[in-house]
Amino acid sequence: MISVDQASAAAQPQGVIPSFGERRRDPTRWAAQEPVRLVGVSKVYPGTDAPAVAGLDLRIEPGEFFSLLGPSGSGKTTTLRMLAGFERPSAGKVFLGDTDITDVPPYRRPVHTVFQSYALFPHMNVRQNVGYPLRMSGVPKREIRTRVDEFLERVAVTQFVDRMPHQLSGGQRQRVALARALVAKPQLVLLDEPLGALDLKLRQEMQVVLQHLQREVGITFVYVTHDQGEALAMSDRIAIMADGKVHQIGSPQAVYSRPETAFVARFVGRTNLLECERVGNARVVSGDLELRVGETPSESRFFLSVRPEALRLGDAAVDADNVLDGFVEEAIYQGADVELRIRAVSQLLIARAAVGRHEVGSAVRVGWDVADAVAVRAEPTTEARVG
Ligand code: ADP
Ligand code: MG
Repeated sequence: MISVDQASAAAQPQGVIPSFGERRRDPTRWAAQEPVRLVGVSKVYPGTDAPAVAGLDLRIEPGEFFSLLGPSGSGKTTTLRMLAGFERPSAGKVFLGDTDITDVPPYRRPVHTVFQSYALFPHMNVRQNVGYPLRMSGVPKREIRTRVDEFLERVAVTQFVDRMPHQLSGGQRQRVALARALVAKPQLVLLDEPLGALDLKLRQEMQVVLQHLQREVGITFVYVTHDQGEALAMSDRIAIMADGKVHQIGSPQAVYSRPETAFVARFVGRTNLLECERVGNARVVSGDLELRVGETPSESRFFLSVRPEALRLGDAAVDADNVLDGFVEEAIYQGADVELRIRAVSQLLIARAAVGRHEVGSAVRVGWDVADAVAVRAEPTTEARVG
């Protein structure tokens, strides 16, 4: 179904000839990049109760590499399809700059979508595939050749120009699909898990290609992924989604080091989450433990997130703000280091340690400083959703 959408979208001029509203017959007006906004957007699919997307407010800046990150079913693809125009929001509006494009069909949006399934035309060679959007918008032949060559060079597939898609590897096909997405210089490129079918090494290689390409051409990317490593590596900003809601929007550093909800803390990187309760106005307890904490949410129940690498072990833990005595329940060898599962009072904590330093069953003191822990909410607040 997706490839049908892609084909019908690709069968139309992409990002070159807008023909609605005041922009009619003035394609140059699309040339300047504009922010993309989702305002109060919800989507309830027919025959379902729970909204796939609920009350989304997003603003994506021109030239930004923006990722939608979340587990399967969190509403990422639905959000992307509403940006592309393949789905109509049940409520809310989509804007490009000041123009309401909620009811503008996909082929009239200056948008190109790249899917995991590549969706190259099987009967066209590489050069023809990449030139297609330009041919459709009536760009002169000579210019098509120059621009196709330019973009094939950017994605480093110049030696395959005469090959058919089935003669290419997955990584090469994805490079061609990228060149085709960018060649007509759309305002917005939407990518739905485009690297999902590639093996890890190729995926990491393509992450670098994608990131450099996006920075070079300066076109706004909205990138959907369930892979937090991918989102952290490439994005300017990330929106973290769960159950159709955005939990947090921020730079990779911000969402990793200052998560706002328990979900974000857990989904972005590994962490220890301690369920906490405020008792009186100064004390915070987690189970049987009394903890020293920094700033906390206004709710009386919250979670404390402590990254494994923030835990100090043995002698190093002695003067930490919070100190617990425990023992090593499990040690999982990970090559460069070891992940320890430490049972301490009522908590099971994950820590990182040098290989061979701590034996399974041995006692170990574990501690962390107030500054290295982040208090997070159980659920997102309304403010957290405003980008
Ligand atoms: P993601 O891309 O994050 O995996 P989706 O946007 O595909 O999430 O799906 C969000 C929710 O909407 C899921 O619960 C999914 O089952 C549901 N959904 C997606 N597409 C449809 C559809 N065409 N009809 C009914 N439900 C759908
Ligand atoms: Mg999806």
